[in-house]
Amino acid sequence: MQYVSTRGSAPALGFEDVTLAGLASDGGLYLPEQWPSFSADQIRALSGLSYVETAVRVMTPFVAGSLSEDELRELCTAAYGRFSHQAVTPLVQLDHQQWLLELFHGPTLAFKDVALQLLGQLFERFLSRRDDHLTIVGATSGDTGSAAIDAVAGRSKIDIFMLHPEGRVSDVQRRQMTTVLAPNVYNIAIDGSFDDAQALVKAMFNDADFARRFNLSAVNSINWARLMAQVVYYFYAAVRLGAPERPVAFSVPTGNFGDVFAGYVAAQMGLPVAQLIVATNVNDILHRALSDGDYSQGQVVATATPSMDIQVSSNFERLLFDAGGRDGVALAAQMKGFEGSKAMRLTNAQRDGAAKILSSARIDADGMTMAMRWAFDAAGQVIDPHSAIGLAAAREAKVDPSVPVVTLATAHPAKFPTAVERATGVRPGVPGRVGDLFAREEAYAKLPATFEAITAYIAERATPRP
Ligand SMILES: *Cc1c(COP(=O)(O)O)cnc(C)c1O
Repeated sequence: MQYVSTRGSAPALGFEDVTLAGLASDGGLYLPEQWPSFSADQIRALSGLSYVETAVRVMTPFVAGSLSEDELRELCTAAYGRFSHQAVTPLVQLDHQQWLLELFHGPTLAFKDVALQLLGQLFERFLSRRDDHLTIVGATSGDTGSAAIDAVAGRSKIDIFMLHPEGRVSDVQRRQMTTVLAPNVYNIAIDGSFDDAQALVKAMFNDADFARRFNLSAVNSINWARLMAQVVYYFYAAVRLGAPERPVAFSVPTGNFGDVFAGYVAAQMGLPVAQLIVATNVNDILHRALSDGDYSQGQVVATATPSMDIQVSSNFERLLFDAGGRDGVALAAQMKGFEGSKAMRLTNAQRDGAAKILSSARIDADGMTMAMRWAFDAAGQVIDPHSAIGLAAAREAKVDPSVPVVTLATAHPAKFPTAVERATGVRPGVPGRVGDLFAREEAYAKLPATFEAITAYIAERATPRP
């Protein structure tokens, strides 16, 4: 399988190179040259398979040329063996039409584990082959940092430096990062905001000498391998609810557009997806883009759903490319315009292509609270605020009553106990597997938010390229 860039001028690469590169050299994002296609019989044959076997069948075409089916199975077995539920991503029924797909049974309690546990395995495998070394540098406001650290802790070919804004992540989130004491993990609390942390990371990637010397790599959801891993659970859930005979709709709490784009990919591969509902909070750039073509950046408003407090969705570019007719040169110009003016209009082709399958909804704080209450009262389910945004959008959407609607439950409620308790009166307990978090020793550096201080700290500890 070859991959092409959304901006049309980077060379096509195989899966191994795309995984290690992250961003394409022309600033675009990689996508398969063409979508693999599954027949109704191939989809039917997935019924009853375990999560790992489903993952192997769904991902084999994407990794062709870089991994054999047996190698892929070995990596998936290792990645998904770390989940606490036998089904990895179990379905829960709420009423005659509404379902939850629980994606939070991984080590750090958010859906990011599904992709990052596999990405950690892929990195290690590919780096061993090349006898190369990576330095992962990232900024986090919470979930991505802990999931990435857990996925690479103790791996010999990778060092990870994770920046977080001091005092501005929750105690659970900080401890999930800082109590990982593996020698290749470096947590840095910066004296600044999340935006400052992100700007520092960007500056390091833009310093070509520094980036080359330490072979810098990112783990945010622009990495194709992360999206690929997320395609699997759409198949797994839909087959359990009657696909290919019966179509299924999904509602996805959305920030960077990675998770919902994986659903779009599943549909392109032949899975009968009746509708994909893009659920946003009041940071609604995606809802405005999908409902009237207006992709213009607003001010970020802090909400009870921090992982969706985003005003630019990096993976949206992949949808614009594919739904808009795959014209990389035109898209490069459109994106350059957006980077300059922070606003753009979708073309008619992009809007029509998206509208074939995507709808959207903007859910405010009241809608979120009502959905948490409804899940608890109607079905005895305690859900987290992000999942509640998805569920509120699912219940509002116009979907044929014969079509099941699956809301992706993206975080464990124990990650956001205060908001959950306020809505339902129930304080969710932390699951046993992370229960001793508050007894463990923490280690992290505290540094000023300056380029000089951060790069000096990293240069002293990172492994230069062989
Ligand atoms: C990251 C995250 C999201 C948003 O997912 P995207 O792929 O960025 O759209 C939603 N909910 C939770 C809990 C998350 O951690």
